[in-house]
Amino acid sequence: MHILEICYTIPSRWGDKMIKTPTRYLSMDPKLPNLSHLQQAAEILRKGGLVAFPTETVYGLGADALNPEAVEKIFIAKGRPNDNPLIVHVANPKDIKPLVRKIPDVATTLMELFWPGPLTLIFPKSDLVPNSVSAGLDTVGIRIPAHPVALALLKAARIPIAAPSANLSGRPSPTSATHVLKDLNGKIDAIIDGGKTSVGLESTVLDITGQVPTILRPGGVTYEQLEEVLGHVEMDPALIQPELNAALKPRAPGMKYTHYAPRAEIWIVVGTEEQVAKKLKSLVDENRAAGKRVGIMSTEEMLFFSREYNPNPDHWEILGSKDDLTGIATRLFQALRNCDRYHLDIVFTQTLPETGIGVAIMNRLHKAAGGKIIRAN
Ligand code: AMP
Ligand code: MG
Repeated sequence: MHILEICYTIPSRWGDKMIKTPTRYLSMDPKLPNLSHLQQAAEILRKGGLVAFPTETVYGLGADALNPEAVEKIFIAKGRPNDNPLIVHVANPKDIKPLVRKIPDVATTLMELFWPGPLTLIFPKSDLVPNSVSAGLDTVGIRIPAHPVALALLKAARIPIAAPSANLSGRPSPTSATHVLKDLNGKIDAIIDGGKTSVGLESTVLDITGQVPTILRPGGVTYEQLEEVLGHVEMDPALIQPELNAALKPRAPGMKYTHYAPRAEIWIVVGTEEQVAKKLKSLVDENRAAGKRVGIMSTEEMLFFSREYNPNPDHWEILGSKDDLTGIATRLFQALRNCDRYHLDIVFTQTLPETGIGVAIMNRLHKAAGGKIIRAN
């Protein structure tokens, strides 16, 4: 048995009392979930504590979704604005019944096809769901995660679990237990380490309460997959024109905040590969001359294109091949965290093809950049 008590590093503030929370570290092989560790984690959740756990998308920070005090702790530990609602995780489709007022026909089809999986569906919420979970909205986002540890935990706890990504608000989402501990060690009761997550980006959030199903956040299930099933699916206008985001009052309230950001400034460089390669050289030279530590984040193809111009950044983060967007998705948040690891001040990234999971990748990059774009064309 492998239990290691990791002592807190940062005291957290719950209510008006400063409290210290040793974070219990529970490690398990995802293919063989450890029953004793699962029982411990389930017990903590049932008693109103916080447990971080792996899902196929990113690590989640779980609390009993029906216990307002437990839910409140999530917002405090993460420093999450309280107008940003949480996704509720369940183990079985039948578990959603008490949580919603209505199950539209389209939901039944989507649940059969995509659950367990990275698709969050927005339903009209029942009174059982605390307002803190829905951030005052009359809807609730629900999904079944496709990860053996997450599913085993939900079954052991026998409660719906509200779980946003297990990072400090605004930081890149965690794709490993190390990322979670870096942000939340000492602020949560336990973490289950089940290795790296497989999708690497969060779930797609789909609103099915209106006439036309609308994507509020692109994610692990792609637009193309949904269109094939639904015939017609819309993108929330705030996703298409991010600069209108605040004015349009996005229906996924979380979308209005800067997200996924390392400490370094991120800039997206737009243009053909040739144009971007040339521009990167001058951007690196100018910023290094100004005394900044400069990074480039790019595909391996861009590394090849850049040989002619030979830029010399302090760190070059290779995301993978542009022909393997799924692989890039799994590495993106680690890459953003690496910007801090290498103490970069400014990072320039190219754009990626906006097809399939590429839409979600570019959405996260635009959020990380806070809309900062340089045109190389
Ligand atoms: P996170 O759990 O940190 O990945 O964030 C959850 C995302 O789902 C945020 O962008 C929320 O705004 C969105 N979300 C959760 N519940 C709802 C809801 N009821 N209506 C609209 N968006 C939601
Ligand atoms: Mg998040």
